[in-house]
Amino acid sequence: MSFSAYAPGRAELLGNHTDYNDGLVLSLAVNRGTTVTGSPLPDNRIALRSRDLSETWEGSLKAIQPGPAEAWYNYVLGVVEELRRRQVFLGGFELEAASTLPIGAGLSSSAALEAATALFLKKIYPYELDPLEIAKACQAAEHTYAGVKCGLLDQISVLFAKADHATFIDCRSFEVRHLPLGTDTRFVIVNSGVKHALVAGEYNERRASCEQAAHLLGKKALRDTTTAELNDARDRLPELIWKRARHITGENERVAQAVGFLATGHMDAFGKLMFESHDSSVRHFENSCPELDFLVETARGITGCLGARLSGGGFGGATINLVRADAVETFAADIAAAYQNRYGSTPLVLATEAAAGGA
Ligand code: ADP
Ligand code: MG
Repeated sequence: MSFSAYAPGRAELLGNHTDYNDGLVLSLAVNRGTTVTGSPLPDNRIALRSRDLSETWEGSLKAIQPGPAEAWYNYVLGVVEELRRRQVFLGGFELEAASTLPIGAGLSSSAALEAATALFLKKIYPYELDPLEIAKACQAAEHTYAGVKCGLLDQISVLFAKADHATFIDCRSFEVRHLPLGTDTRFVIVNSGVKHALVAGEYNERRASCEQAAHLLGKKALRDTTTAELNDARDRLPELIWKRARHITGENERVAQAVGFLATGHMDAFGKLMFESHDSSVRHFENSCPELDFLVETARGITGCLGARLSGGGFGGATINLVRADAVETFAADIAAAYQNRYGSTPLVLATEAAAGGA
């Protein structure tokens, strides 16, 4: 008998790199994701296959360890290991992963694979962890097996999302709130298709800078400071560290404002915050790249586009755009044509409704 589980990708609407700073994020689950299908195997055998990469891996549950850096099956084995660390009993299994997400585009195909794996394993070897613990196990898998010290944004987003709603996450208390999205606007993702080298290294370096800033300010995390306070402390921090911290405080403040704008339906104001977020990525966090800047600047000039910013870690990947519902088709055509004209490749444009989380 075969079992399957599914988890969507996610897009970060606002709150860039705030998750590992105990901060605030708004996200949604996109209408594409990863399906994991398989069945139990005897003798602790594990057989993995990625349909997308046409790659396989075989081994034993008794001798699990991380494969080489960048190995795709690390994401699966990491989840196995982290579930077992949480006293989950697992036996052997075979699984195949198949995704409708672009992989490595900032839509978190990694968290989708982790979450779908955890949910699949729960079907064949039922266990009792609550969803937040499952999210934490998936995050830990990404830390220990994939070498990316990500926050919990991706895993919470793909496991907790609700259809037609944005997900607000407080990454300190792990309070999750679902905020209804109106029907007058849509979020449109534009995947640049570029992935700049050293992304994991840049990511971990940004995280270290944020931790250093908090330490120098005598705070537990950057969550505990504000832009005003940071401005007063400017001469106490090295310039680079100050800039990194300035991005995080601005992002936390923008998320807090955006929650209010969502509640009152002020989507123009929400969009303005998205543009400000991207400007801050460029000026303070330096996690953008020419292709993403081009997409955001182009979006700014298209009628009906209320906001645009890079979404996710940065250094390539995707932008997220807030577009009036009646302008989505022209927006998609115009931005694809402009990018094609400039870079000679057609970006994936995905007008997504907010989807439900993994199951
Ligand atoms: P993102 O999460 O934004 O898509 P990451 O670099 O964090 O980008 O994760 C992408 C990596 O996750 C891939 O390089 C691969 O190792 C793994 N991965 C994700 N989805 C799949 C899949 N369907 N099959 C195999 N590996 C996958
Ligand atoms: Mg990822």
